[in-house]
Amino acid sequence: MGSREGERPPTYGIPPASVRLARVLAAAALQQAERFFTGLRESRAEPRSHVKEVAAAEGDHALYVHMPFCHQPLCSFCSFVRYPFDPERSRRYLKALAVEAAWLASTAERVRVPLVYIGGGTPTVDVYGLAETIDVLRSYFGRGLAVSVEANPIDINDESVSVLRSAGVRRLSIGVQALTAERLRRLGRLSHRVEDAVRAVEAARGRFETLNIDMIWGATGDTRGTVYEEALRALRLGASQVTFYPLMPPPGRRRLMMIRGEGPWHPEEPGLYEAVLRAALEAGYQPATPWCMNRGSRLIDEYVVEYDRFLALGLSGIGRTRRYVYVNCFTPEGYMRMVERRGHAALLARRLSPVEDMLYYASAMAFGLRWCPAVLLERYGRLAAPLSATVQALLRMIGEERRGDCYRLTRTASLYTAHAMQRSLYMAVNGLREWGMAAGV
Ligand code: SF4
Repeated sequence: MGSREGERPPTYGIPPASVRLARVLAAAALQQAERFFTGLRESRAEPRSHVKEVAAAEGDHALYVHMPFCHQPLCSFCSFVRYPFDPERSRRYLKALAVEAAWLASTAERVRVPLVYIGGGTPTVDVYGLAETIDVLRSYFGRGLAVSVEANPIDINDESVSVLRSAGVRRLSIGVQALTAERLRRLGRLSHRVEDAVRAVEAARGRFETLNIDMIWGATGDTRGTVYEEALRALRLGASQVTFYPLMPPPGRRRLMMIRGEGPWHPEEPGLYEAVLRAALEAGYQPATPWCMNRGSRLIDEYVVEYDRFLALGLSGIGRTRRYVYVNCFTPEGYMRMVERRGHAALLARRLSPVEDMLYYASAMAFGLRWCPAVLLERYGRLAAPLSATVQALLRMIGEERRGDCYRLTRTASLYTAHAMQRSLYMAVNGLREWGMAAGV
């Protein structure tokens, strides 16, 4: 099915009852996740038990590495922990990161790390520093490490693509965010122009196993028509994936966004999501998560879908090993001091209750657009029975069918529900980041 520029998107609405249900579930998820993270703020990491917990981890874990520096001006919609790029400060940070990597590799001895996801911030702001860091990570976690990197379009050209390929980067994700100057301005993304984004995608296309483009929807002034048209333009740039993120405000920006009718409060929010989905299906892409539209790539945008356990390096990194979660400190100077003193920078940490662990696992499964009752029951036993039965009843109500052991979430209403719930979880994480940066810890 094709569509011409300027054509109105087809209408195929999510039933209003499904929208209401998704909103109720998303509100409950937000409340639950915020309660968890508020509790976590009070739970300072105790260095000795942190070492013990990380040492007890075993099996496959993904690794998240945070690079916190960005080109200026910083984007106003952004909820990540990021600071303006300064070459000297960035070099000191990368040195500390190497020390933390050494600590992690020697402590988590029984862990195998198949994948590293380098996010930020803007990892490519210093592409040579990044390549050296990848080398360091490989020396500690193995030559076979699959490497995924986020990039700003202004950093991507023939030279940087060659550097990244030589460093073994398999998946590159370019933060395009919008494809009109007007939308970039409305989003507050001023560090690159539309022409930079198009050039960057052209320079990287076909040169990585997976090329992803990040887009954002849900700003003031977005309509179903404009979101649909822009989604089609992004999909036609020829990347193997396009990930369409909704705006996910932390608590401090929610009031303003409510007043402006943005993000979750956009008056056409369900319709905007449908417009994205419709454009993706028409362009031959399939949802790998509610947001990541994929065309035949194996490495998808969110490592949390493939790995429910992950370690973290760098400031604000969040790690989750068996029933244990930890968060690194939030400021560059604090991070460097902590790493120098202890080898790691864990600021907050806490053991997870079986219910918390199960809720996280279940939400990651739904985010990967699967629901596998047998897997849940095998992992959590009778504890999982009520949750599993309720979700199955909801899926059947929506019209999803079980294929073998699992349900695949394919209906627009299921995808919309998974989107709304995951956004709640990320909004709660953004609340933690906002707190960490404001507290300067
Ligand atoms: S959106 Fe990306 S480039 Fe913009 S400030 Fe946030 S981390 Fe930096």
